[in-house]
Amino acid sequence: MDQSHIDYESMLNDLLSGKVKMHELDKLLGDSNKATEIRRIYIEHKLGVKLSNIGNTVLDFNKVIGRNAENTIGSAQIPMGVAGPLLVKGSQVNGEVFIPLATTEGALIASINRGAKIITDNGGARSLVIRNEMTRAPIFRLSNASSAVEFIKWVNDNMEAIRKEAESTSSHLRLLRVEPFMSGNNVWLRFSYFTGDAMGMNMVTVATDKAAQLIMKGFPDAVLVALSGNMCVDKKASAVDFLLGRGKTVISEALISREYLEKNLGITPAKVVDVNNRKNLLGSAMAHSYGFNAHFANVVTAIFIATGQDVAQVVESSMGITWAEDRGDHLYISITLPSLEVGTVGGGTALPTQREALKLMGVDVGGAPGSSAVRLAEIIGAAVLAGELNLLLALARQELAAAHNKLGRAGKNN
Ligand code: NAP
Repeated sequence: MDQSHIDYESMLNDLLSGKVKMHELDKLLGDSNKATEIRRIYIEHKLGVKLSNIGNTVLDFNKVIGRNAENTIGSAQIPMGVAGPLLVKGSQVNGEVFIPLATTEGALIASINRGAKIITDNGGARSLVIRNEMTRAPIFRLSNASSAVEFIKWVNDNMEAIRKEAESTSSHLRLLRVEPFMSGNNVWLRFSYFTGDAMGMNMVTVATDKAAQLIMKGFPDAVLVALSGNMCVDKKASAVDFLLGRGKTVISEALISREYLEKNLGITPAKVVDVNNRKNLLGSAMAHSYGFNAHFANVVTAIFIATGQDVAQVVESSMGITWAEDRGDHLYISITLPSLEVGTVGGGTALPTQREALKLMGVDVGGAPGSSAVRLAEIIGAAVLAGELNLLLALARQELAAAHNKLGRAGKNN
């Protein structure tokens, strides 16, 4: 029996007897690939299931543990396709790109692909990032409302010291502003930062913690209740992110000619506008929804999974509005994503397939600070526009059910 086999067997027995805990294996073995394999074998033994597909992976868990996941047993695999080419014009992109999309929803990639072709045939999508900042909003408790008002004044008067303290935690982070919100004797300080090419959640959390310690020292009546006071707002749909923005606020727009729509799709601009008004605007108002759109979340999620973004942030990253106008000779269509949280460094973006997907879009770190994350945001905006345009067209042409039946239910129809 060779040495590695003895390790496996004794470790497995130690796990089964409870002598060793699953999370201790990485340190004990000094190799997270081995630890991952033993954990998987342990779960297989304990539950009587075979997990060979979960174990079949390209990941090096020595690069995953401590960064992306704990107690690893393998990886999940999701089909990835591409839509495009899509012509995108923005501050950091000017040309045709392909969009990597990881999804299990049949018809989604085909839908974005058709939208991309229509937009590209009509001169492309123009994307703009109009706001670029990541937020953290700690909540402080004061003895009463007067003290809370004094506290806000103290914070404003000492902004330079607070900025210095926060920025001391990272060479890439800049504090842009601190916005106070009050309720009774409670104060939320919503810190907004520029975080370079990173989405920034770890960065802003560390920086705000440092700033909060300084603030409490300078104003002893203020007690930090929670570093995240839910006014940030992370991973929750909210009016705050919708109005004030979080991550990148992106607008993407296009003009589609009437002649093209009538000739190729048998549809008029007026019909598309009518579907948008009654479905995306009126329907969402009726439902009191934050999603005045057809399916932003489909496109955002598929790109987030493909490129290693924090998928739970799809909640606020896919809020937004689709707007359409009949301009006689053209259909004008735009999408606005107020709160798109994306990065090209940090998080899951360094993982092997995720990094390839970013490269596929020409997104690589190295230019001006933050420029690659802006490029990614501009491309996502255009892809969302393509998905939105095509779904509105499919609805206007009454072909939605047929497309899903054909592309999303192969087992049923064959
Ligand atoms: P991160 O993984 O912490 O990496 C950010 C670091 O990358 C920066 O601190 C910076 O180092 C370095 N860096 C190198 N080149 C950079 C560049 N061009 N621009 C910016 N930074 C650069 O990333 P993060 O975006 O701050 O955090 C993302 C992670 O946070 C995700 O895994 C997400 O799931 C998780 N998350 C955390 C919380 C939380 O409360 N902490 C909440 C939600 C999500 P220097 O600082 O040394 O300059």
